[in-house]
Amino acid sequence: MSSHPEKLLIIGSGPAGLTAAVYAARANLNPILIEGFQSGGIPGGQLMITGAVENFPGFPDGIEGPELMAGMRRQAERFGTRLVTDDVAEADLSRRPFAVSTVNGDKFNAEALIIATGAAASRLPLDSEKSLWGRGVSACAVCDGALPVFRNKELAVIGGGDTAVEEAVHLTQFASKVYLIHRRNELRAGAIMRERAASHPKIEILWNKVVDEFLGEQRLSALKLRDTVTGEQSELTVAGAFEAIGHKPNVGFLNGQLELDEQGYIVITPGTSKTSIDGVFAAGDVCDPHYRQAITAAASGCKAALEVQRWLQ
Ligand SMILES: Cc1cc2nc3c(=O)[nH]c(=O)nc-3n(C[C@H](O)[C@H](O)[C@H](O)COP(=O)(O)OP(=O)(O)OC[C@H]3O[C@@H](n4cnc5c(N)ncnc54)[C@H](O)[C@@H]3O)c2cc1C
Repeated sequence: MSSHPEKLLIIGSGPAGLTAAVYAARANLNPILIEGFQSGGIPGGQLMITGAVENFPGFPDGIEGPELMAGMRRQAERFGTRLVTDDVAEADLSRRPFAVSTVNGDKFNAEALIIATGAAASRLPLDSEKSLWGRGVSACAVCDGALPVFRNKELAVIGGGDTAVEEAVHLTQFASKVYLIHRRNELRAGAIMRERAASHPKIEILWNKVVDEFLGEQRLSALKLRDTVTGEQSELTVAGAFEAIGHKPNVGFLNGQLELDEQGYIVITPGTSKTSIDGVFAAGDVCDPHYRQAITAAASGCKAALEVQRWLQ
């Protein structure tokens, strides 16, 4: 542990954390960025497990997720960000400077914190899901739905909440048909979304169905479904399946010290990055249940760094 507290410690190395680091480093805050290792994703964040990113401005032909993140990392380092490849195990936010310790036992003190640890998409615990991940199986229709491989094809969304319906409706722009696969006989989504799904000509809801297996050799070609009432199995031919079964914000290390919403997202004062504790800021998916995009995460990282700068002054 250094004898002097750091001005700023950033936790997380997705688009939010690295953008915050670029801004903070250029403002001479000499930030340390703990980039994670394995407990809440991997260094570089969620875009490290995706292929082409086609909606990040500045890359008209798209860019591979890992390449985009490698560029952000180099940019943060270029201005002097100190990167630590480790996971934060604990943070003591009850006193200032805040105390943060990592899984490998390193300890840091910092005047200000930016928490940018993201939110992991929940995934079905099936071996076949893992092997076809990124090859027809995705957890983000807004991100991947417009890819040419899904155009004019029959697709499936798995889930029954608002996000599942939103994703299904989004996919109808590209797909010839979208199956909404739900394990119960009623959607969890709100009334307006339920009505939207039920009345959409391209959406068919398959009630009381769960996915037992993702089928396909090189790419997904079908789903093996099971009826939760009768136990009967069936196959559904689809070119893509989008899991919309929830997200889990990576906030375990906070041990309940910050105010969270009912889904576990960090609550921020609207229009700012301020959390319930003065000097602790949040950015990116960890405090964003709505948009969860790389560009919104990057933008909120920028905002958090600028707010820290003002707060320290
Ligand atoms: C399959 C898929 C495809 C996607 N495609 C697109 C796309 O095409 N376009 C788009 O705009 N968005 C896309 N997204 C969404 C996008 O990836 C996220 O919105 C974005 O990465 C969020 O950035 P973030 O910085 O908030 O968090 P993340 O990218 O999730 O990064 C979180 C970081 O925190 C670290 N971390 C977590 N816990 C700890 C801890 N305890 N200690 C230290 N570090 C920790 C992780 O290691 C990681 O570095 C996609 C998402 C998925 C899952």
